[in-house]
Amino acid sequence: MENCIFCSIVNGDIPADKLYEDDAVLAFKDVNAQAPEHFLVIPKEHISTPNDATDEALLGKLSITASEIAKDRGFAEQGYRLVMNCNSDGCQSVFHIHLHEKH
Ligand code: 5GP
Ligand code: ZN
Repeated sequence: MENCIFCSIVNGDIPADKLYEDDAVLAFKDVNAQAPEHFLVIPKEHISTPNDATDEALLGKLSITASEIAKDRGFAEQGYRLVMNCNSDGCQSVFHIHLHEKH
């Protein structure tokens, strides 16, 4: 989608520090980290808010990707937070859904 910063990252128009990528999802470091390790896991397909998400497998994949990153980086057992914000009361600022992973 035009004028979507995360679509621009998917397309390669805006650089990002990528951790994982496949046909459906992309994970990269949050540019304004709120924890020592703070990543965003997004679907490559543009979905504006959690209210617009209908693909259960794709939503599940965001969570599984986050857990694989945690295992790879060695903090799965210690733990981490997964958060997905929705709209204004949820403090969503980028309207392309993303799972925050913070450790
Ligand atoms: P939200 O508030 O929508 O849940 O979170 C959006 C997140 O995207 C914020 O934590 C913000 O730091 C991050 N972010 C915004 N623009 C960019 C960008 O261009 N690159 C990266 N890597 N993260 C971004
Ligand atoms: Zn987008």
